[in-house]
Amino acid sequence: MPSHDVALALDRSGPFRALAEAALADRPLDPDAARRLLASDDARLPEALWAAFAPRSRHFGRRVKLCLLNNARSGLCPEDCGYCSQSAVSTADIPRYRLKPVAELVAGARAAAARGARRYCMVVSARGPSDGDVEHFVRAARAIRAELPDLELCVSPGITSEAQARRLRAGGIDFLNHNLNTSRRHYPAICTTHAFEDRVATVAAGRRAGLRLCSGVIVGMGETDDDLIDVARTLAALEVDSLPVNFLHPIDGTPLGDRRPPDPGRCLRALVLFRLAVPRAEIRAAGGRERALGDLHGLALWAANSIFVDGYLTTAGQAHDAARRTIRALGFDVEGAPALDGQPSANVM
Ligand code: SF4
Repeated sequence: MPSHDVALALDRSGPFRALAEAALADRPLDPDAARRLLASDDARLPEALWAAFAPRSRHFGRRVKLCLLNNARSGLCPEDCGYCSQSAVSTADIPRYRLKPVAELVAGARAAAARGARRYCMVVSARGPSDGDVEHFVRAARAIRAELPDLELCVSPGITSEAQARRLRAGGIDFLNHNLNTSRRHYPAICTTHAFEDRVATVAAGRRAGLRLCSGVIVGMGETDDDLIDVARTLAALEVDSLPVNFLHPIDGTPLGDRRPPDPGRCLRALVLFRLAVPRAEIRAAGGRERALGDLHGLALWAANSIFVDGYLTTAGQAHDAARRTIRALGFDVEGAPALDGQPSANVM
């Protein structure tokens, strides 16, 4: 089935066919072609999505992986990231609490698995973890592993040293999440308390430690097309395994709270860009997808093979049962669930 889907997708990808063919051949993203993609209008959106669907289909078929987040420590970060409700400069009305006990993290994993999640992500608001925090996650990982050996475990602890990453790896954590968020050029406009290079260094430390890497972006923070292309190429060079594409969800009380959410067409073209730039990575339609994409949110699946369900760190999201219905209605399969008989997605668009 995937090879039929790949051929079909190429046939339908119009002016973006060369980008799709380059992605299938694992050639680096052509910046000029990427600029044309991002500058294209909404009338070209179906062709752009089919271009993304070619490598998506080659590497992931029609599978969609569900991921679930657990905000393990909320609202206590000393950093000043302008989009974040948990930063030191945020006055957003959110829960604030210290690190959840191991038993609560384990219970969260159990609930995630029961809802069909294949990956469970434990996130802390912090500049970086103490060694005690690392040991806390190791204890949680060991307990979760004993009960749920197939659940993928991800930790998002902030700026992390190689020694800490090695400890997490030895303790049973699969993925280290640390998002680059935007380009090197644009980074000082969204954060002043740490640098883009700090984030790259953490991702590189995770790689050296043998962890799988999850690192992505936030679309809609005032970046240019070239910023998106630059960060896509950086993530490709870092060979990230998993790439969450978030869409700015402006939150009252944060420095970016007055921004308009990015428009759906731009969000979808950004998803296409990241699929074509890092074709073998798990592209995850992440925070803000429901608000930014609105009625078009199902189209994210043409580029993304993974979505978050049941909300984000401090904002609500699509419930897991509604997400399953969307996935199946569009002819995709929930990863780990039995495939349904039915009409292929090729007829949907
Ligand atoms: S480091 Fe993370 S938790 Fe802290 S302000 Fe930035 S995004 Fe928010």
